[in-house]
Amino acid sequence: MLKKPEDALSFEMLEPYEKKIYDQKQLIEISKALSSTLDYENLKDSILNICLAQQQTMNAGIFLAPDPDANYLKIDKNCKGFDVDNKVYESKIMIDSSFIQIFEEGKFRTFGMRTLEKFGNLNTDENFRLFKSLGVEIVVPLNAKGKVNGLLILGEKMTGSEYIESDKEFLTNLASLAGIAVENTRLYELATVDMMTQLKVHHYFQTRLREEMDKCRKKSTKLALLFTDVDKFKVFNDTYGHQAGDVVLIEVAKKVMECCRRNDIAARYGGEEFCVVMPGASAEEGYEMGEKIRKAIESHSVINPASGQELKVTISVGVTEFHILDKNNKELIERSDQALYKAKHAGRNQTVVNTRTD
Ligand code: GH3
Ligand code: MG
Ligand code: MG
Repeated sequence: MLKKPEDALSFEMLEPYEKKIYDQKQLIEISKALSSTLDYENLKDSILNICLAQQQTMNAGIFLAPDPDANYLKIDKNCKGFDVDNKVYESKIMIDSSFIQIFEEGKFRTFGMRTLEKFGNLNTDENFRLFKSLGVEIVVPLNAKGKVNGLLILGEKMTGSEYIESDKEFLTNLASLAGIAVENTRLYELATVDMMTQLKVHHYFQTRLREEMDKCRKKSTKLALLFTDVDKFKVFNDTYGHQAGDVVLIEVAKKVMECCRRNDIAARYGGEEFCVVMPGASAEEGYEMGEKIRKAIESHSVINPASGQELKVTISVGVTEFHILDKNNKELIERSDQALYKAKHAGRNQTVVNTRTD
């Protein structure tokens, strides 16, 4: 028997439910994506790309604390589409400001700029004015442990239409996932990054080296390993003091990081010895990288914080590459170390390669 028209569920009636199911499925996928990365840069990029794709806007940015101890939020350099000049990059939103307090009230929510205005006369508030000048339409607070730990900002939709309730609901859910993911990634970074040099810590290096060696075995890919060591550093410390020595280590580490490719892993092996794992690289490419780092340091001057005097240091570099017969990471590390030893004995300030010959 044919159903009467009023009994049949029309497409129009089902559409909002289908949209809801679709959004929920998207959120599950997003949740998986956000919790699978512990890389802070990738995480921020993912959050913003999700916003761009899901909300059909060209502009998305995120304000976060630049370091775990900071008492303010700053716009992240990963910002998409917004016209961000130096003044905006330098702007700080204090965590204890009345502006942030607005977002702390109640549970996670998504705020349109007009809604925000209703929370008080914000027209004189510099943060509100900053958002207005950027062309922000929507502000979504990120939250972890009951505190605002970020602000997501979105611009106008490409279609020119308003953000509707379901968009806001989606963004609210996204923000609650993103807030926790930001917090977790931050904690992971704190545990795996050396405070002084900002390089990865020894334990992280060993773990990643093991993982990368496994990939080489499975996929028959290459891997180069570099060890760097500051030349005559004991004499440097004795002459200019430990504080000047610390500045040297910070600047050498910076040069190492600047030279690295996106997937390279730069770590502080210990003291003044740094190492770089280069997935996919041959010994020759390792040598080129060693020379790039060595030359960058050779041509750089370090300012002694005590005297303002310009100081010079050099480094020696040892390089090796993964060999299919390498049983464990120890063998690879030992070969790099031998190469470094040779570089020292050949007169320092040079890069030496030591590959397995059997
Ligand atoms: P070589 O050219 O043979 O490497 O000579 P070197 O004097 O650098 O050799 P060595 O490895 O024996 O000395 C390393 C020095 O590095 C000793 C130690 O005082 C210094 N050092 C290690 N960690 C730090 C640090 O965190 N800060 C400072 N300022 N010095 C450090
Ligand atoms: Mg040493
Ligand atoms: Mg040394």
